[in-house]
Amino acid sequence: MADYDLDLFVIGAGSAGTRAARIAAGHGARVAVAEERYLGGTCVNVGCVPKKLFVYASHFSEDFEDAAGFGWRVGESSFDWPRLVANKNREIARLNGVYRRLLEGAGAKVIEARARLEDAHTVAVGDERYTTERVLVATGAWPVVPEIPGKEHVITSNEAFFLEALPERIVVVGGGYIAVEFAGIFHGLGVEVTQLYRGPCFLRGFDDDAREFLAEEMIKKGVDLRFNSVVAAIGKEERQGREVLVVDLDDLETIEADLVMYATGRRPNTADLGLEAAGVALDESGAVVVDEAWRSSVPNIHAIGDVTDRINLTPVAIAEGHALADSLFGPAGRTVSYEDVPSTVFSQPNLGTVGLTEAAARARHGAVDVYKSAFPPLKHTLSGRDERTLMKLVVDRASQRVVGVHMVGPEAGEIIQGLAVALKAGATKAQFDATIGIHPTAAEEFVTMREAEPEPSQEAAE
Ligand SMILES: Cc1cc2nc3c(=O)[nH]c(=O)nc-3n(C[C@H](O)[C@H](O)[C@H](O)COP(=O)(O)OP(=O)(O)OC[C@H]3O[C@@H](n4cnc5c(N)ncnc54)[C@H](O)[C@@H]3O)c2cc1C
Repeated sequence: MADYDLDLFVIGAGSAGTRAARIAAGHGARVAVAEERYLGGTCVNVGCVPKKLFVYASHFSEDFEDAAGFGWRVGESSFDWPRLVANKNREIARLNGVYRRLLEGAGAKVIEARARLEDAHTVAVGDERYTTERVLVATGAWPVVPEIPGKEHVITSNEAFFLEALPERIVVVGGGYIAVEFAGIFHGLGVEVTQLYRGPCFLRGFDDDAREFLAEEMIKKGVDLRFNSVVAAIGKEERQGREVLVVDLDDLETIEADLVMYATGRRPNTADLGLEAAGVALDESGAVVVDEAWRSSVPNIHAIGDVTDRINLTPVAIAEGHALADSLFGPAGRTVSYEDVPSTVFSQPNLGTVGLTEAAARARHGAVDVYKSAFPPLKHTLSGRDERTLMKLVVDRASQRVVGVHMVGPEAGEIIQGLAVALKAGATKAQFDATIGIHPTAAEEFVTMREAEPEPSQEAAE
């Protein structure tokens, strides 16, 4: 056996790499992990965590308004953006330290620098060379802005977390969950928001009823949501002594804004990593192609997380890191199931989902029963807010198994997480019905929906 410095060299200390490095080190492997930017990766620094903190911050504007219907008189409120950013930064610095301690505590060597493969068993970090039996590529992904005139004027979610000041008006371009979440965040913080998406409805891949329902709710709140809207160019002009951005749409309309944020996609971080030279196959998007054991085309080089561009979510990246480390250095047997992965768009209100959309269920199972309920939440009977909640169950008619659960409403993420267990366990509609509700909650609606929707007519289904 060749004598390597290390058993495993992990490139990238994000959700995936950190978990893999610390579990492998815990199994006694000699592990080093290189991180060029920030410990904890995207999720901790410019993703899930700061995003959710911003969602909380932005929801207070509605909470203050809603309080009046419950007898509260809230004094004049004001919002201090720099304070939110500073508090968020402080919490993230704390988390960076937690990640360092997790890695070092498990015995992994942390190298804070960019790493690059020289060959399948040699990693270069600055002037240092490490030989290693195995390499794990866990380098994540990075936002991409399309090649439009004026692209130099736009920001991405990366910069949105560190703005010095809030703009008065923002245009958010994109129809994925990051665009939708930031439209909600900025709107809640008092920014005038226009969201543009080139397709007929945002959140492609989510259940159609849920997408349309959320769009209506966001429009009611005051987000200027425009579908079938394509940006042609972005210019910078001076208006009344002030610089503004002018967004030209391909239908010749223009929108003025102080900031334009693009959230139109992310590309795997595989450029200039030495992967091609080592013989690692990439797909057309630049993602590392892996087999079911997360092995690339070079058997000692593995890849997990967003760099493989499959289900790009933190819990999936973590599960992969753990299972891979176990399979290489510990008791094997831990697997990752890519079926029925729950997820939530932290829009306002949330859109939570697990299992198949109605369309996917019809395609896979043929006949399905659909149960739907849309109602104003109890809270808003007194707050007076015009916001509704949608709940939807999709049931395979033959087996009566619940194959899809979708919700648009407050705390949908918290509710769907619990129901994901039921779905994973193969619960049937009868078992949902036999479950006693918790009253009064919105979630009880999921166990009290009795009447299936009438079958869509052939014409409507087409
Ligand atoms: C705005 C936003 C919001 C999100 N919200 C959610 C959410 O609510 N829920 C959820 O589940 N997921 C969310 N995600 C997705 C989630 O952040 C990713 O799926 C997750 O971070 C992937 O983990 P990873 O380890 O594969 O990659 P990353 O976390 O991106 O980690 C990769 C690391 O590798 C480092 N790196 C890259 N190249 C090198 C190199 N050559 N040398 C050394 N280091 C290198 C990078 O600096 C980075 O730290 C969000 C993402 C974004 C952008």
